[in-house]
Amino acid sequence: MSDFKHTRKRLVLFLASLPLFGVVAAFGLAPDTVVEEIAQETVTQSIELPSPTLTDSGSFDFWREERIGSGETFAQLLRRLGVAEEEIGRVIPASRESGALARLVSGKTVLARVTSTGRLITFRYLAADQRLVTIQRLGDGFQTQEEAVEPEVRFVMRSGEIQSSLFGATDAADVPDSIASQMAEVFSGDIDFHRDLRRGDRFSLVYETFVHNGSTVKTGRLLAAEFINAGKTYQAVYFQDPKGREGYYTPSGQSLKRAFLKSPMPFSRISSGFSGARYHPVLKEWRAHKGIDYAAPTGTPVRAVADAVVGFAGRQGGYGNLVVLDHQKPYSSAYGHLSRFAKGIRHGARVRQGDIIGYVGSTGLATGPHLHYEFRVAGVQKDPLALKLPTSYPLAPEYRGQFAAATQPLAARLDLLRHNRTARLD
Ligand SMILES: [Zn+2]
Repeated sequence: MSDFKHTRKRLVLFLASLPLFGVVAAFGLAPDTVVEEIAQETVTQSIELPSPTLTDSGSFDFWREERIGSGETFAQLLRRLGVAEEEIGRVIPASRESGALARLVSGKTVLARVTSTGRLITFRYLAADQRLVTIQRLGDGFQTQEEAVEPEVRFVMRSGEIQSSLFGATDAADVPDSIASQMAEVFSGDIDFHRDLRRGDRFSLVYETFVHNGSTVKTGRLLAAEFINAGKTYQAVYFQDPKGREGYYTPSGQSLKRAFLKSPMPFSRISSGFSGARYHPVLKEWRAHKGIDYAAPTGTPVRAVADAVVGFAGRQGGYGNLVVLDHQKPYSSAYGHLSRFAKGIRHGARVRQGDIIGYVGSTGLATGPHLHYEFRVAGVQKDPLALKLPTSYPLAPEYRGQFAAATQPLAARLDLLRHNRTARLD
């Protein structure tokens, strides 16, 4: 741990002398006169959001960023953030001055620092009209403040190494969940984060945060990512073309969007969070039963791996509640043991890649909640990892020049992060 902190300090100092002109120009987020300031803020950022800290009582604390659910109350949100009941009883009365907390807007995010024992340290919520609500612990009480702010965009660089789980590593590197999930999403055409992760895998990230008075109030987009999985390097840079279409590409301009996702399970803290399941929450070997089993709690969403027409949705023997999707010929995929189907999933319905088609369950012959997933070629089960599947969506040639100008600075940041890590390992 101390090793890691040392690295960060060095990295931050290095960053302070790095011009970020390229990024600023590429995204048009701010005039280049603020370059100096950006570097400064990156320093503040690192000091302000330390690695999980060992507090006096021996508990850990983490920064969590959560999206507000539909119809969710402030108390429910605090519970979901891991705040203990007796704390909630003290926070709620102290938060009454804030009108924004009484009318939480679903889809917006909140940031909170909570200890492993359920103590709330800080809470931040950027509400409508750029109103920032801050709740701060003061001894055993809480102070609430609500003010109009104009947050500024900052660029943050982080890197880490997988020891036991992806979220363990991103927590240790102070990477918010939303960015960890975006990273998993970006590489989901190449890596099945449920099955492929290895100890020693490494990642580097460049992303946006919105900052007010040196404090992060919201996380923005992932701008660049590198993931080294089992020795193989994958890179991604964000690009928005002049028509406003956005996506992730390799630095050489190959789109990372694939015709088929590697896994029907979106990677999240929930789907990867089974206790005891380290980085292989897969129940059985492929050969044993011609499918892949993903252990996950009942109700975890299951998504379509590719655009398709629903070929079957109903009860089928040992599969229990089963969905079969017909993709471009000769491919199809099957999803078994579902607790229920998503709305509108019936024979003949059209789905897009990534659409939720149902929810994990244990219907049919299942010993516990899991998804049984099959990939089929001409109706025969195949291991998708062993197949060469079609790719798609190249970058339009007319955007090549803009792409290079916009993404080279991002690729350079990734190189810098990699070299910094390599230096530490020497
Ligand atoms: Zn199975």
